[in-house]
Amino acid sequence: MDVFLNTCAYCNKRILASKNLFCLECNGLLPRTYFNLSENNIVLDKLKPFTPLRAAGSFLYYNQNEMVKQILWEMKYNNNKELAMEMGRLAAGGQETMFQDAAEVIIPIPLHKTKLRIRGYNQTEYFAIGLHEVTGIPILNDQLKRIKKTSSQTKLNRQDRFQNLDNAFAIEDATTIQGKRVLLLDDVVTTGATLISAAQALLDSGCASLNIYTLASAFEM
Ligand SMILES: [Zn+2]
Repeated sequence: MDVFLNTCAYCNKRILASKNLFCLECNGLLPRTYFNLSENNIVLDKLKPFTPLRAAGSFLYYNQNEMVKQILWEMKYNNNKELAMEMGRLAAGGQETMFQDAAEVIIPIPLHKTKLRIRGYNQTEYFAIGLHEVTGIPILNDQLKRIKKTSSQTKLNRQDRFQNLDNAFAIEDATTIQGKRVLLLDDVVTTGATLISAAQALLDSGCASLNIYTLASAFEM
């Protein structure tokens, strides 16, 4: 009976009805980093020289992996909110304590309001919802604001990317951040410029500690 069957979000093979979006095989093919949100890994090593972080991590490696590329594209451009949430659930599954120890509030990187109006949704918010469903950590959506509409980063070198994002973020009401252990979330970390810029705004507003986590990482071991 079809009603009891589901298809895999990646290979389209039929799978037994379950809450999972991927078949077992595709789930096994996800290029997991296995360092999750830890105090010793390549993502933290790359970001820490620029901003004082407690911990950092990523769920998957990005490097030219077709599956990860497609997942990110679906999340970002194809309105696939369910997939974004599933990635959050998969990332946090079995890692609840690690996330709960690190953070008491999840803050997804916001889009600039112009971009949000065009796209209609922020994919990182849905990734955050999946993380929240598993860990129970509340999401704070309306406090970190992207105040500078930055031009495309892709043609800029690393140093220009950092300058392009200088003071790109602001906090609406610092008292909502003060003294909190924050988990800053993004879909993918490439140079880290966006995350570092947002991290600065959060640190300036007096958060107790800052952790950064992304779905995918372009940094390799
Ligand atoms: Zn599959």
